Amino acid sequence: MSEATNCVFCKIIDGQIPSQKVYEDEDFIVIKDINPVAPVHLLAIYKKHVPTVGDLSIEDSKNMWRLFEIVKKITKEEGIESYRIVQNNGRDAGQEVDHIHFHIIAGRKLGHLG
Ligand code: AMP
Ligand code: ZN
Repeated sequence: MSEATNCVFCKIIDGQIPSQKVYEDEDFIVIKDINPVAPVHLLAIYKKHVPTVGDLSIEDSKNMWRLFEIVKKITKEEGIESYRIVQNNGRDAGQEVDHIHFHIIAGRKLGHLG
């Protein structure tokens, strides 16, 4: 499903790089971020190698409903009431890995956006 040879998230999806996986379905894998910024810092990674929101097809966009179901499931199971979802596009926005993913951050009082 993932195809970019030099992409760290494609390698995680393919099992070539180990990760702490907390959830997986046909469209997403959820792992613990290797460099957490809060007590809870998960990455919901779209399995298909799509670099940014601007590269999503309509069909990809239609799969994004799963993200919210995943967030609902994980936060409910973990008893997380407050959390932030972050998704970066482009270098100035802080994107380091050019494979679309959503940060789920919780477990401490968070600062304001930006
Ligand atoms: P972004 O800056 O939005 O592209 O986020 C990339 C995130 O991926 C950062 O928070 C990194 O800590 C995280 N990351 C990079 N490599 C790995 C890895 N091998 N396993 C887990 N998280 C990673
Ligand atoms: Zn990739």
